[in-house]
Amino acid sequence: MRIDFVTIFPRMFDPLIAEGVIARGVKQGLLDVKAWDLRDYTTDKHRSTDDEAYGGGPGMVMLAEPVLRCVEAIGGGHIVLTSPQGRRFDQNIARELAAKEWVVFLCGRYEGFDHRVIEALQPDEISIGDFVVSGGELPAMLMADAIGRMVEGVVGNTGSVEEDSFFKGLLDYPHYTRPEELRGMRVPDVLLSGHHEKIRKWRKEQALRATRERRPDLLEKAELDKEAKKMMGWDE
Ligand code: SAH
Repeated sequence: MRIDFVTIFPRMFDPLIAEGVIARGVKQGLLDVKAWDLRDYTTDKHRSTDDEAYGGGPGMVMLAEPVLRCVEAIGGGHIVLTSPQGRRFDQNIARELAAKEWVVFLCGRYEGFDHRVIEALQPDEISIGDFVVSGGELPAMLMADAIGRMVEGVVGNTGSVEEDSFFKGLLDYPHYTRPEELRGMRVPDVLLSGHHEKIRKWRKEQALRATRERRPDLLEKAELDKEAKKMMGWDE
């Protein structure tokens, strides 16, 4: 899968490509990740990427022309524009984007892009939540991480991705590692029992309980199987 970022701060992406799960995907040749410097596509000698807003008011606006030129140079991909006005990112959108072969993230700054970027490209506008951060770089990296880890082979054990929160519409169950007893707190006996079927059921119950207590909204939407319904006391 190919992921491109269009930004005035390409070096912000160095750590993403150097370390962690995305870096592993890149090293394994499963992900092709590149940050494009908008300044290379500017049209004036000051290499401007922003200007004052028509109509006045505080805050600068990102120029459309360098973005359009950069997108043309990239030459393809599903264009995602990071914006608080977009559809709200979640695991389903991550899965939808992970199924694409090529995604290009446009990272805004200041007040965002000249609206003609949206008119010209009709991008997939996506928000990471109902709050405003100062640039699209962190939102784009966050989404790229969620997407990249779903690409087959990027996370060593695909099963571990499938067990994560939200994958089946539920929150995750609690995890424990060594030692068996830590400062008086013991690992639940069932996890030490070696009894795989009991462990599976315990984890499922825990996931259901965490979801019911913390995110009942998710539970309403989740497609529960017969066993889960029984665990919830919903069996007919
Ligand atoms: N004036 C804009 C905010 C601009 S913030 C507004 O009120 O809608 C500058 C840039 O940060 C945006 O162009 C976008 O790329 C990014 N950004 C800020 N908050 C974001 C969010 N919640 N989701 C995705 N991108 C965001």
